[in-house]
Amino acid sequence: MALNAQQKSVIQKTLPSERVFFDFSDRSEYTKDATEMIFPPDALFMAETEEELVQAVRLCRQIELPLIIRGAGTGYSGGALAVQGGLLVSIENIDEIKIDTRTKTAVVGPGAITGDIMKAAEKENLFYPPDPASFKESCIGGNLAENAGGLRCKKYGVTKDYVLACRGIDAEGKIIEIDHSSPFGLLDLMIGSEGTLFVFSEITLRLLDLPRPGNTIQAVFDDTVDAASVVAEVTAAGIVPCIMEFMDGDAIACSNRYDPDHRIEEGAAMLLFETDGAAADNETAAIKAVCEKYAATALRLADDSETRENLWQTRRNLSKAVKSAYKSKISEDVCVPPSRLPQLVAYVSRLAKKLPIRVNCYGHAGDGNLHVNFLGQIGDKKENQAITEGVERLFDKTLALEGTLTGEHGIGITKKDYMGREFSPSTMRCMHRLKKCLDPENLVNPGKIFP
Ligand SMILES: Cc1cc2nc3c(=O)[nH]c(=O)nc-3n(C[C@H](O)[C@H](O)[C@H](O)COP(=O)(O)OP(=O)(O)OC[C@H]3O[C@@H](n4cnc5c(N)ncnc54)[C@H](O)[C@@H]3O)c2cc1C
Repeated sequence: MALNAQQKSVIQKTLPSERVFFDFSDRSEYTKDATEMIFPPDALFMAETEEELVQAVRLCRQIELPLIIRGAGTGYSGGALAVQGGLLVSIENIDEIKIDTRTKTAVVGPGAITGDIMKAAEKENLFYPPDPASFKESCIGGNLAENAGGLRCKKYGVTKDYVLACRGIDAEGKIIEIDHSSPFGLLDLMIGSEGTLFVFSEITLRLLDLPRPGNTIQAVFDDTVDAASVVAEVTAAGIVPCIMEFMDGDAIACSNRYDPDHRIEEGAAMLLFETDGAAADNETAAIKAVCEKYAATALRLADDSETRENLWQTRRNLSKAVKSAYKSKISEDVCVPPSRLPQLVAYVSRLAKKLPIRVNCYGHAGDGNLHVNFLGQIGDKKENQAITEGVERLFDKTLALEGTLTGEHGIGITKKDYMGREFSPSTMRCMHRLKKCLDPENLVNPGKIFP
C-alpha cells in the first residue's frame, strides 16, 4: 500500500523529519527479519522516546496506517515485517538500562539488547537468566513480545517469569502501566502478544543472585534416540541442569564444516549440558552417569572458562553454519513434553530419510523444544513442495504427541495458517474478539497471528 500525499505530509509534519525515512535502498535491513522475507514498509521512524512512540501510534490512527514495532529484527516468524505496508517504528534507540541492586531489579528501555542487560546485571553480581540464542542482538521489547525462551529456560523459566511491570502504549495511543496485580492478568496478556496489542516502552525486570558456575558437559552419541533418551531420563530423575541442548548429526557436520578449528567427533547426535548453583557437582556426576549408560562415544567436561567456550562453539555456530550450508532454510520450532522427545527425534530422522531434501534439527532439549530445519540446495519448485510437505507432517506429528507448533518463535506470519490445527474454532474466535476489542481498527501489526 503506497502512502497518499496527505498521509506522507502528516508523517513529515508530526515526527522529527531527520529520523523518518521513505527510501529503503540503504536501509534494506528494515524490510526483513531473520525469516529473510522482504516487506518494505511505507515509512520508517527511529523513535527515541516514549513520547515519540505515543505520537507514532496516534498518527497511525489519524491517517489509518498500519503500525509495526521493530526491535532488532531477529524474529523467526515474521512478526516485525510490514506485510501490509505502514509505518515501521524502530525502538532500538530506546535502550537505557538501570540496575537497582537494592531491589534486585532492572528498569530498561524496550530497545535494550538482552545481552547488555545480562552484562550490566553481572557487574553487580546479579543474574538475568532468559537467554535466547540471539541474546547478543535481540532487544528486550522483542523478547517480551515473543515471550522468548532460551537455553536456560528449563531451569530458570522464560521472559515472562522475569517481568515485574511495564509501561506501554495501547492502540488508542494512551500510556498504560501494568504489573502483576493488574486484573485480567493484563501483564501476561501483553507478554507474547507479538506486537499486535500493545507497544512496550519501559520494562521492569526481576534479577536473581548470580549462581555459582558449575560444569559444561558435551556428549556425542551414535544414535539420536539414545541422546533423546538421555534427556528424558535426566528429566525423569529430577535433575535440572541449567542447560540441556540437543543437536543431530547433520547439524554437527554443518558446524564442523563451518568452523574446522572447533571440530568435534561426528556422530548421530550431541548433547550439551551446563550445571550451576549449589547442586552443580552432584548434577554433573549424575548426568555423566546417564550419558555413559547410553554409550556416549565422546564425553568431555569443562569447568574453566576457556575449555567451556570451546565446548560451546559447536552449538553457537549452528544458526550461521546451517544457513551457510544450504540455499533455502525453513526453520520450525516445535515443542513436545520432554518425555516424548525421543519419539519426535525418531520421527524427524525417519522424515529426513523419506524426503528428497535434507532435514536437520537441534534445540533446547530440556523443555522438549526442537528446531527442525528443512533445507534446500536448489530453491526450485519441487524442493519447495518437499519442504511444505515436510513441515505439514512435522506439525501433525507434534500435535499427535500433544506438543505445540511454536515453542518460542511465535506465530507471526509463518505459522498463522496452521493455527486452526492447534486451536479450536471457539478458541480462535475468543482470541479474535480480544484483538478486536483492544485494537478495533486493526492497525497494530495487522496480518499477524490470525489466518
Ligand atoms: C540466531 C537466532 C537464534 C534465536 N534463538 C532464539 C531462542 O533461543 N529463543 C527464542 O525465544 N527466540 C530465538 N530467536 C528468535 C528471536 O531472536 C526472538 O523472537 C527475539 O525475542 C526477537 O527479538 P527482536 O528484538 O529481534 O524482535 P523483532 O524481530 O524486531 O520483533 C519481533 C516481534 O516483537 C514485536 N516487538 C518488538 N519490540 C516491541 C515492543 N517494544 N513492543 C511491542 N512489540 C514489539 C514486533 O512487532 C514483532 O512482532 C532466535 C533468532 C535468531 C536469528
